[in-house]
Amino acid sequence: MRGLAAGNWKMNGTGDSLSEIEALLAQHPAPACDVLICPPATLLARMAAAVQGSGLKVGGQDCHAAASGAHTGDISAAMLVDAGAGHVILGHSERRADHRESDAVVAAKVTAAQAAGLMTIVCVGETEAERDAGRTLDIIASQIDGSLPEGTDAARLVIAYEPVWAIGTGRTPTNEQIVEVHEALRRQLQDRFGTAEIALLYGGSVKPSNAAEIFALPDVNGALVGGASLKASDFGAIIAAL
Ligand code: PGA
Repeated sequence: MRGLAAGNWKMNGTGDSLSEIEALLAQHPAPACDVLICPPATLLARMAAAVQGSGLKVGGQDCHAAASGAHTGDISAAMLVDAGAGHVILGHSERRADHRESDAVVAAKVTAAQAAGLMTIVCVGETEAERDAGRTLDIIASQIDGSLPEGTDAARLVIAYEPVWAIGTGRTPTNEQIVEVHEALRRQLQDRFGTAEIALLYGGSVKPSNAAEIFALPDVNGALVGGASLKASDFGAIIAAL
């Protein structure tokens, strides 16, 4: 399957940052993989306009499960689509931790986002304490079970494995640890959906210096990149490695 390099800008970027997208497009006019940037919601429409016709995709970082209503500060899936998004990240560990999003909340968002026509990138990952306790595979399996609702459309699903302890820390799992989790994810998704075509991204301190090695691992179909997606030079090098 075609690889996916997904950039998660988190709470970074204003209008000035669109110059990074212009630089990225100039450097990589025809990348060999799909490229997605998920900017803050305030930049979505402007970024969608800036990348029009280029093949570069834009997405949201979260959405609400409801279609509309009294949810101050929140954004619905249809609003993301309206702003030009084709993808949305759901269940990122920062959302799970900062906003106490449970698997059930994430599952409701998946239902809403897929119904609105979005590709859903569902994030799972263990904490360091869970890994130290030998619970990694159990935690991942139960997050997948709980975060993917009945009726999930596998054709609109991407999974990102992001160990919480590797996000923004500069630390990455060993190749063996990544492969162990990705193989388990592949088996679980194959059993449930009967397809091996769901892209599995690795996320957590991916950078130009480790991207090629990670992308060479079995069952790794791309990356969800935080810090290193903010600069065109770094993200461009990651795209070139995929
Ligand atoms: P990082 O973040 O690449 O800065 O570690 C990854 C993520 O949170 O998606």
